[in-house]
Amino acid sequence: MQMDYPRLRKKRVCSVAVEEFVQRIKDFHGAPAPGVVLGGYMVDLAYRHLPPEGSLFDALSETFSCLPDAIQLLTPCSIGNGWLKILDLGKFALSLYNKNNGNGVRVFVDPEKLASFLEIKTWFFKLKPKKEQDLDVLLEEIHTARSQVCGITPVKLRPEIFTSRRRAGFSICPICRESHPAPDGNCCRACSGETPYL
Ligand code: ZN
Repeated sequence: MQMDYPRLRKKRVCSVAVEEFVQRIKDFHGAPAPGVVLGGYMVDLAYRHLPPEGSLFDALSETFSCLPDAIQLLTPCSIGNGWLKILDLGKFALSLYNKNNGNGVRVFVDPEKLASFLEIKTWFFKLKPKKEQDLDVLLEEIHTARSQVCGITPVKLRPEIFTSRRRAGFSICPICRESHPAPDGNCCRACSGETPYL
């Protein structure tokens, strides 16, 4: 049973209508995942607080789950184009920052603010098995709360995070005959023992 959110019809997240955003999530992520929906409101909050000095920004997600998809659905930043980086700290937080100087904003879920949003709190801390939580009620609360469960703070990123690395050339691995970054040594990292394949 699909829930309609009539009162959200005119609401937007990063200039995208909420309904359009939810549809994008279904198409891209496979399901209307609460984490991607909340992530969208987090991106929206960050966007609105970006330093005014320029529009070129990159993104950092502090978790692999859900947030990278919200960022990719609402901003030009993707993993593939290198404008989205993931530093897996296991924290549901993201930052948008100026790619030239590292100045930006970080948005995170503030546990204290979850006290007023019990469905989100139950989901966020996994206080109930997934089967026992009503997804529609949870999504409704996320659309109501928007970024009210979030904190936001200015940040300056470390240069090693936001400075792009120069390529130092490629070599052909003598074992697999494929190219790999020359600084990795004679053999590629896979042939040196890091292969993920049996
Ligand atoms: Zn190799």
